[in-house]
Amino acid sequence: MPGEQPIFANMVKLNTNENPYPPSPKVEAAMRQLCDNMERFRLYPDFKAEPLTAVLAKCYGLENDQVFVGVGSDDVLSVAFLTFFHSDRPVLFPDITYSFYDVWAQVYEIPYKCPMLDENFRIRKEDYYQKNGGIVIANPNAPTSIAEGIDFIEDILEHNQESVVIVDEAYVDFGGESALPLLKKYENLLIVQTFSKSRAMAGMRIGYAMGSPTLIRAMNDVKYSINSYTMNYPSLSVGVAAVEDDAYFRECCEKVIRTRTWARMELERLKFTCLDSAANFLFVTHPFVPAAKIFAALKERGIFVRYFNKPRIDNYLRITIGTKEQMERLMEALLEIVPVAEKKEGV
Ligand code: PMP
Repeated sequence: MPGEQPIFANMVKLNTNENPYPPSPKVEAAMRQLCDNMERFRLYPDFKAEPLTAVLAKCYGLENDQVFVGVGSDDVLSVAFLTFFHSDRPVLFPDITYSFYDVWAQVYEIPYKCPMLDENFRIRKEDYYQKNGGIVIANPNAPTSIAEGIDFIEDILEHNQESVVIVDEAYVDFGGESALPLLKKYENLLIVQTFSKSRAMAGMRIGYAMGSPTLIRAMNDVKYSINSYTMNYPSLSVGVAAVEDDAYFRECCEKVIRTRTWARMELERLKFTCLDSAANFLFVTHPFVPAAKIFAALKERGIFVRYFNKPRIDNYLRITIGTKEQMERLMEALLEIVPVAEKKEGV
């Protein structure tokens, strides 16, 4: 199940890793232009999503035939699962990671196996040296927020040249290291990114994959045979405008990173343990107050964070980095909820 989408006055929504800032002013200008040209809506959009694939290719130093665009990275990942994972061998991804991987595997009847993250929630690369039908690594991982370096990803690629390795970089712009330079060397690498987080456009549903022309062609073949016109015309247009405003994009990411540093310090003052985050969220636990209790108490105060009632992480909360003001409200609420003195809560 995705995170709740409550909407009411004065709430603080820190539960689905959206960007707290609006999209680039250039996106707004592009949207206004669309309204002046409604006649265009009569027609189908470009099924190759060409203006957007071209601008993304230019932005990342790739050829146009190395980029695939879809309706959010969920759509892109789903097409990738359907296209590349049809071996009898299991697809591998960590036991704690983005919760849709096992859903797609089940829906498409793909065998899968989930090697356990170690006790510090790190991926053990040796777990990915076994025979497999594909690999999916979220880097930074979610919900842990931890990122691995490019050498780590390359090690996994070196050991897996026979299967497709997907690196889901939904959060990479907040401090992770992209596997992009490895595309020159590994034809079986597929990098997936999204406009939903760092480009502040979750509502427009734009995701993309970058890989060798062979991988991208295969994904397009599958897409064209199911639904050719997935990307609507407005999304294509405003997507181009967003990519073209690199300065705004960088500034937004910097602001989120600065607020993350401040929020982590404040949470640690309240005795929370925060994992090292390279994402736009923190994954935190408190030594005395159960996560489920904090989650409920925050919700009562109109502050939404994410709680996963799952083995190994059921005492953790995932907190999206909001604006400084939103994070201040969170801290004020937490001050009422968790004991400030170092003694066990008497509940
Ligand atoms: N990958 C990861 C790791 C995510 O956390 C998410 C969103 N929560 C997605 C992919 C999908 O994002 P979207 O479909 O909005 O691009």
